[in-house]
Amino acid sequence: MSDEKIMLTTASVERQSIESLKDVGPLELEKAGLRDVALSDLVAEPIVALGSLRYDVDPLSDLRRKQGGVGNSHLTFDQILEWWRYRTRYEPRLVVPPPSRARTVLVGTVMLPHSRSMLEGALTDFLTGTEWNYRSGIAEQIADSLVADLALRLFEAGHGAVLPLTDGNLNALIEGALGRVARSENGAGGFWSRKSWAFLAGARAADEGFGMQFGRHRAIIAQRDGELWSGPLRNFVIFDDGAQPAAEDGVASIDGERIEWLRELAEGKTSHPDRLCLWAEGCRDCIDACPSGAMTISHRAMLKAGKGKPAAFPQTTCCTYRGGDQGVFGIYKRCACGRCYAACVMRSTRPGQSGQD
Ligand code: SF4
Ligand code: SF4
Repeated sequence: MSDEKIMLTTASVERQSIESLKDVGPLELEKAGLRDVALSDLVAEPIVALGSLRYDVDPLSDLRRKQGGVGNSHLTFDQILEWWRYRTRYEPRLVVPPPSRARTVLVGTVMLPHSRSMLEGALTDFLTGTEWNYRSGIAEQIADSLVADLALRLFEAGHGAVLPLTDGNLNALIEGALGRVARSENGAGGFWSRKSWAFLAGARAADEGFGMQFGRHRAIIAQRDGELWSGPLRNFVIFDDGAQPAAEDGVASIDGERIEWLRELAEGKTSHPDRLCLWAEGCRDCIDACPSGAMTISHRAMLKAGKGKPAAFPQTTCCTYRGGDQGVFGIYKRCACGRCYAACVMRSTRPGQSGQD
């Protein structure tokens, strides 16, 4: 794979992902039996962040035991590359460099934002918020198909072999690399932090707008055309044997400074000026919107974090409410909560945003 083939820009990948959405979105709706639903009622156009880094850099390695809900990722590039080479061993066009030659990795993040009507639904009572409760799971399915379709498009456009980290691929990878028991205990999400990759590639300095950033709720919020968005995230990766990380238009260089920035977040340090939420004086919309109390517990942990403790997020409190077999939403399959980030995106009391107090 030559350096030339990896000339990707955020704008070009975003365009390709919008085309992918047009193709796969209606199909997923059809599969889900939602023929009467317009795609635009569910999701908005995808938002993309691209970041490149050296193969031998593992930005999340020393964050793995942190409890902050940030950076918690166990898969290494070695494991991903080995699995991929094994799976594609009979297909010469998909050959990727052996671990000894892979020198650069490009990790892309695609956010498929929930539509405004979905987010409004999230903020209503869950029994009456029919839009949100019935349909939020579909956005995840569409995002999965979208990243698979996008990866194929990029491959066909000559950008090298592109591995889409769909739920299915991640589960297979985790099972291959870490074992079936690990997978059944943690699922795909527990071993690969899509949010951290979104942040590493997407966060921008304050004067450039914030791109993709963590909020106090630990979800990723993206900004486009002055509006905030949130929704399912998916990654894709490209391994290259070029010596330098690609630094084309819109491709962030994931280097020491950026990784340090993520580490500060994982440790709950509150002083970084470039984050979405002005923690010290931030609004409380996500805390007030949370029905389970998880955000209140998290907020208290954040306050203590400034005194040297990592800011734990009460995953169990949140999950028990929002889904799974134990939770209220487990009764209604395909439901979700997400009021914390819906409140963040939809309400206008956030300090530091133009036109707001
Ligand atoms: S998803 Fe729901 S329960 Fe969990 S923190 Fe957000 S608002 Fe609270
Ligand atoms: S709702 Fe307010 S406090 Fe919560 S993450 Fe968003 S900006 Fe921060």
